[in-house]
Amino acid sequence: MALPNKPKGELPAVVDPEVVEHECDVLIVGGGMAACGTAFEIKKWAPEDMKIILVDKAALERSGAVAQGLSAINTYIGENAIEDYVKMVRNDLMGVVREDLIYDLGRHVDESVKLFEEWGLPIWKKAEDGSNLDGAKPAPSLREGGTPVRTGKWQIMINGESYKCIVAEPAKTALGEENIMERVFIVKMLLDKNRENTIAGAVGFSTRENKVHVFKCKTALVACGGAVNIFRPRSTGEGKGRAWYPVWNAGSTYTMCAQVGATLTMMENRFTPSRFKDGYGPVGAWFLLFKAKVSNGLGEFYAGSDAAKEELKKYMPYGESAVTPTCLRNHLMLNELKAGRGPIYMATDVALNAFLDEARAAGKSEKEVKKLWKHLESEAWEDFLDMSVGQAGLWAGMNIEPEKVGSEIMPTEPYMLGSHSGCCGIWTSGPNEDWVPDVDGPRSHQYKWGYNRMTTVNGLFTAGDGVGASGHKFSSGSHAEGRIVAKQMVKYCRDNADFTPELAQTAQELADEIYAPVKRYHEFVGASTHADVNPNYCKPAGLMMRLMKATDEYGGGVATYYMTSGKLLGICMDLLEMLREDAEKMAAGDLHELMRAWENYHRIWCVEAHIRHIQFREESRYPGFYYRSDFPTCDDENWRCFVNSTYDPKAGEWKCEKVECINIIETDP
Ligand code: FAD
Repeated sequence: MALPNKPKGELPAVVDPEVVEHECDVLIVGGGMAACGTAFEIKKWAPEDMKIILVDKAALERSGAVAQGLSAINTYIGENAIEDYVKMVRNDLMGVVREDLIYDLGRHVDESVKLFEEWGLPIWKKAEDGSNLDGAKPAPSLREGGTPVRTGKWQIMINGESYKCIVAEPAKTALGEENIMERVFIVKMLLDKNRENTIAGAVGFSTRENKVHVFKCKTALVACGGAVNIFRPRSTGEGKGRAWYPVWNAGSTYTMCAQVGATLTMMENRFTPSRFKDGYGPVGAWFLLFKAKVSNGLGEFYAGSDAAKEELKKYMPYGESAVTPTCLRNHLMLNELKAGRGPIYMATDVALNAFLDEARAAGKSEKEVKKLWKHLESEAWEDFLDMSVGQAGLWAGMNIEPEKVGSEIMPTEPYMLGSHSGCCGIWTSGPNEDWVPDVDGPRSHQYKWGYNRMTTVNGLFTAGDGVGASGHKFSSGSHAEGRIVAKQMVKYCRDNADFTPELAQTAQELADEIYAPVKRYHEFVGASTHADVNPNYCKPAGLMMRLMKATDEYGGGVATYYMTSGKLLGICMDLLEMLREDAEKMAAGDLHELMRAWENYHRIWCVEAHIRHIQFREESRYPGFYYRSDFPTCDDENWRCFVNSTYDPKAGEWKCEKVECINIIETDP
């Protein structure tokens, strides 16, 4: 059928998609680091006849946050004490974390890194004399006792352009390609018709063919990463689409789990990383490998100044720690910008020349110094080419010579995630071990209820960005957490062998719901002369801009230097409510738009939880990430606790509550 106003280039969506039903024991939703960990590990524990399906919205080889590659693995415990890892995470996240989950992760993470190396990931090593090997010389593997090149206490360097491909391959091989469905976007999780609070399936659609997929399962993992494009990005107009966080992850993890009643935790937390301006290039290697510092527009290295030290004293005990928490480093930067002392520069010129001066002082010839410079220069470019190609393009396009000029650094728009330097997510059970605190009350207050990393919904697990209150897992930790979950899901299946999942809605009813934006489009598209402008519907692109405007202006985005207040948050909530109402009128003419429409639903829900949590927490726990003008301080006396929220799917109501934060690892005297 020829469509009126046929949309450009994309696959047109039809009103009557094929409906395909699947049955399995284990459903893995997502194909990122965590999901790949689960897919790889689960076959070790699952009996032969256990049916496992993995569904990724994109293609496993290049999906999720590691898609472009990375140049460092940020969590490798190695020679360090796991207790110190817990302390580092606790301090960086301003004291409110689940130490049981973090410690548990610390026990497992190195095994994932060793596996990556065995699968072919090149990990930089040190020679016996302590110098860095250049990769040309053979070195023992980590498992054989090789020493990785560390840039910080927890980070190790890799040649990681193909990191995700290397991790995806064993996951695919373990499950079998026939059990992996790519380019299928899961829209919602489904509860069992008969058993209370128990997961029974999911529904989604293909972004390549007109097909709706309905799954029945005994247990499911939701590991769809965090959320991007929920606040207006700094790059708009010609830079639109550029963001620090990967574009696939639209808050599906938090939304889909919350909608079936899983308790969320610390959704007030957000991450606004300071990155190279406009290209969002990584700064880790510059700070840690090149020992670069940031200066303000006056050339002052403000972070070490007396004024900065005084400022940090306002946020004790966190401000006083040896490594200043990420949010407080942002806070100092924002103070410079607000005082008109911007822009902020990464002093690449100072850092690189210091290496050359050092070499000259050590008596190296000019030829040797030149060779050193060539080496440093290629490291600097490779760092971008490994994980943020756009930044390399920007440097080239702007004629940047990093040894001659510094490059601007800027805090980005806010993102939500639970595995990088943020900790929003879902409240899960910790390991079922004696040292994990016993707490009375509902699951939303407990620390363990049988299955490690199970959410408060029976059979529903999460990992990576999904698990809340335990950030700093990064790529390796997310993979390790996926492996932890694998074993638990198999145990859950065995323990519930008699459970036959049943869905409340028929497959056709679900398909009608998923394709409603397509039906709306076809019904009304002829009512105007342009498919995007219509009195009967709105298009996903416009709705997303409205969402970003609301959060940016009222929810503490870049427009207000991350400042908000009770009053502004109230307005934001009203706008989100209207947005949700109007979202019912979204129309999609092609499969890409259908995906954008459902992403919008996910984003609205997820950001609503974020705003609701910021409203509830009457303090500013993360200065530099967001501020409440009406409660400007970090108030440990009243708020060193979790904020947990639960949506009741039957009543359609949210409940926010304070939950005790229990220290397990001693604090340093
Ligand atoms: P992801 O790996 O992001 O995977 C999410 C998956 O879910 C993707 O496959 C996606 O396609 C899929 N998905 C999303 N929505 C749906 C849906 N509705 N239905 C089906 N599938 C869906 N870590 C390091 O160790 N070192 C670093 O240097 C480093 N740098 C980073 C730089 C950036 C810019 C970012 C964003 C992260 C970085 N990290 C780094 C952290 C690391 O990438 C993450 O911790 C890790 O990828 C999180 O794993 P995950 O599985 O939770 O999410």
